[in-house]
Amino acid sequence: MVEDMNPEEMKEMEQKVIGMCICRSCPTYVQGADPIGYCFPTIGKNVKITEEDQCICPGCPAFAQLSLTKTFFCTRGSEKEQKEGA
Ligand code: SF4
Ligand code: SF4
Repeated sequence: MVEDMNPEEMKEMEQKVIGMCICRSCPTYVQGADPIGYCFPTIGKNVKITEEDQCICPGCPAFAQLSLTKTFFCTRGSEKEQKEGA
């Protein structure tokens, strides 16, 4: 689905994902590691987060909506990056 979006739709979806994102409540999250919504292809991993604790992404509404399968997007990259092995 994300693959079929035009740039405008991507921007809109990015904002929706950031709005749904629960990363700030996650033990792995580091203050100031913005923008959140790491699972989204236009965001991806954040250099401020270097230590993995728990990942609460499976409990996030965006996880179901985007049919995500991976976790630890903040350290391992977006769903797309992880699937492509980038
Ligand atoms: S799935 Fe994870 S990274 Fe993506 S919006 Fe939800 S909490 Fe944030
Ligand atoms: S991507 Fe997962 S591990 Fe990283 S801050 Fe968000 S919920 Fe936590």
